[in-house]
Amino acid sequence: MLALTALVSGCSGEESGVKGTPGQQPKVKASPAAGSYADRVSNSQAERVAAAERWGLDRAPLVPPAPPATKPVIKARDGFEVDGQEEEGLPPVFTTVPTKDKVVFLTIDDGEEKDPKFLRMMSDLKIPYTAFLSNYLIKDDYGYFREMRDRGVTLNNHTLHHPYLPGLSYDEQREEICGMQAIMTKQFGKRPTLFRPPYGNYNGDTLRAAKSCGIEYAPIWDEEVYVDHWEYREDDRDLHPGDIVLTHFRGRADWDGTMTDMVRRFLKKVTDKGYAVARLEDYL
Ligand SMILES: [Zn+2]
Repeated sequence: MLALTALVSGCSGEESGVKGTPGQQPKVKASPAAGSYADRVSNSQAERVAAAERWGLDRAPLVPPAPPATKPVIKARDGFEVDGQEEEGLPPVFTTVPTKDKVVFLTIDDGEEKDPKFLRMMSDLKIPYTAFLSNYLIKDDYGYFREMRDRGVTLNNHTLHHPYLPGLSYDEQREEICGMQAIMTKQFGKRPTLFRPPYGNYNGDTLRAAKSCGIEYAPIWDEEVYVDHWEYREDDRDLHPGDIVLTHFRGRADWDGTMTDMVRRFLKKVTDKGYAVARLEDYL
C-alpha cells in the first residue's frame, strides 16, 4: 500500500504522466471576483471535478464554509509575544487562527518565480492564498503580481530586501517594512495590513516598526509545503483547524518541480485530510 502510494505520487509531478492536461488554459477568464465565497459555492460540483481533472488532481478540493460572521480574536501565540505586546497593541505573531472550521490558509512568500500557469491553476481551482512579497525579488515584474491581485489575491509585506531583521536597528527595520509599504501602495494601489518577518525572525523593534507603518497582524506558519515534502512545527506532524501553511514562489531553479507541482502536493494532503482552503483575510 505504501509502495503504491509512493509510486503514484512519484508520477504525479510529471506533466506528461498526468491525466487531463494540467497546463490547459481555463475556458472562463478569471474575474476579480474569482475565489469569492459566493463564486465558490455557486460553482457546481461537476465544474469543480472537471477543474480538478484538468490540473491532475485525484479529487476536487473541498469548498470552505462561509467566512465567520464574528471574526476570531487573534492573539500572539504563547511564547511568541514581545515585551509590550498587549500594552502597546503590537501586531500579534501567530501560526494558527483560532477556529473550529476544518480549514487551512495558504500563504506564499518572496516572489522569485513568476509562473503564469500557477495563476491560471489557482483561479481555475478557486483556491485562495495570500502573498508576502519582498521587493528585491518582484521589482523586475510588478505586472505579474498586479495580475495576481486582479484575480482576487491579497498582496502583503515581506520587506524590501529580506534581511534578518533582529540584526538591524529600529530605524533600519522601519525602512525595510515602511519602505515596502510605500512601494506596494504605489505599485498595487493598497497599503498592506499583514506583514511576515523574513525567516519568521523578529524582535520588539520589528513589531513596533511594523505597527508604525500600518501593519495589524504578523502571521507566520505552522506547516511548510515544498514540491517534494512537508515540514511541521508541531510534534504531531499533522494539520489542525486554522493552520497557516507556508510555501514559496519557487520553480525548477530551486525545486525539483514547478509551482503547479507544489500545489498538487499541497491540495492532495489538505483534501485527503478533510480540510478546505480558506482565505486568511476572511478570518482577520
Ligand atoms: Zn521569505
